[in-house]
Amino acid sequence: GPKKGTKGLSLNNNYLGVVVREYASLSQLHKQYFGFPGEILMRMLKLVILPLIISSMITGVAALDSEVSGKIGLRAVIYYFSTTIIAVILGIILVMTIKPGVSQTADHIDRTGTTPNVTTVDTLLDLLRNMFPENLVQACFQQLINGSLESANVVVRAASWPGLGELNESALCLLSWQNITKEYKIIGTYSDGINVLGLIVFCVAFGLVIGKMGEKGRILLEFFDALNEATMKLVQIIMCYMPVGILFLIAAKIIEVEDWEIFKKMGLYMVTVLSGLAIHATICLPLIFFVIVRKNPYTFTLGMAQALVTALMISSSSATLPVTFRCAEENNRIDKRITRFVLPVGATINMDGTALYEAVAAIFIAQLNDYALDVGQIVTISITATVASIGAAGVPNAGLVTMVIVLTAVGLPASDVTLIVAVDWLLDRFRTMINVLGDAYGAGIVQKLSKRELERMDLTSDVDVANP
Ligand code: ASP
Repeated sequence: GPKKGTKGLSLNNNYLGVVVREYASLSQLHKQYFGFPGEILMRMLKLVILPLIISSMITGVAALDSEVSGKIGLRAVIYYFSTTIIAVILGIILVMTIKPGVSQTADHIDRTGTTPNVTTVDTLLDLLRNMFPENLVQACFQQLINGSLESANVVVRAASWPGLGELNESALCLLSWQNITKEYKIIGTYSDGINVLGLIVFCVAFGLVIGKMGEKGRILLEFFDALNEATMKLVQIIMCYMPVGILFLIAAKIIEVEDWEIFKKMGLYMVTVLSGLAIHATICLPLIFFVIVRKNPYTFTLGMAQALVTALMISSSSATLPVTFRCAEENNRIDKRITRFVLPVGATINMDGTALYEAVAAIFIAQLNDYALDVGQIVTISITATVASIGAAGVPNAGLVTMVIVLTAVGLPASDVTLIVAVDWLLDRFRTMINVLGDAYGAGIVQKLSKRELERMDLTSDVDVANP
């Protein structure tokens, strides 16, 4: 099956990349060709996100009565929030003990860039704005999350901001050109994807209304339920192609990386982030899971393996969502009424890995600058890191962009994100993996907590839409 293939091939991945790198000197164009099979995988996964989110959220909400969905939603939000805070605290403890930035100063690391500016208020307003898209069709393929026409022109110029230009594929800062002295102001985040948050809000509202409409609403409910099933069948087909796509994705990345030296310079910082992620994934989350669900958390993690590998390869929680669904429902047997609700929302707002990373990176940058942080500033970092992780879209490098909020909140130069850009492609993969794992555990935990409601519904409802 595709599952076995993914595991086997991921070992050979490095091999393919290294061999091609050693024995063939490839032109830029050839490198692009080499990444092509992986690009196709990304495109296919992204393609199913839209029908998947719409159909799963609408049926997920409509199949529950509003009281039950309110309870499930509340439990999910409490879970998202508390695990994110735990991740942030863990990150802070680690970075303050390991002190990866203390031995070196920022001057030893290439510092480039100017001083952009963004406030927490801006981010929160953006977040709220996104929740209410003014145009449903536009929300499905929007170019600008904070989209005014004026800012659209500025996107082009963002490439001239050192370090961030290379991020323009999926997420970058929108910079407004303030004056000729090259003062930039970050006015929002940019994503070439879907306004997932806006769609989720709409689908929840729409699902609630359909659920209350009785006989008439039934047609719509059955339509979206069928759409969901058909989409999941497509996902099944895509998963057969996954081992091939993933093989080429990683090989192409290995060929492409120019600067391996940077890993030495940034070694301790990377070790701090990665060990934080590892502790969160193997101790914190499993412990919470075990205490509440009373099942073996590692079996659960193993069930999610394919989603975790996907996240690692494509650095995007949103694009991993189709695989997350399948693993959670097929391998871990989580009720569809729960996954349809908890997973899409989680992929958008619940990012434990990103939150941990933001906290570590901010304090690392402070250490590089010999900038002493007081208790108030550390609390500020934990709050803004949480906000920044909620505000980050589930696309590659989003966390790096929202990092600016954390830095400016404690008075560090926001342009210092350029100090950590070089290793972000790697850290992004691992934090995305933990983001996805956190969502999956969330579904398992919320299912357990909502057992009584679900059983009651099984008894009272005549037709079970979620599990026909
Ligand atoms: N790439 C991450 C995700 O999709 C977000 C981030 O950059 O931290 O979950």
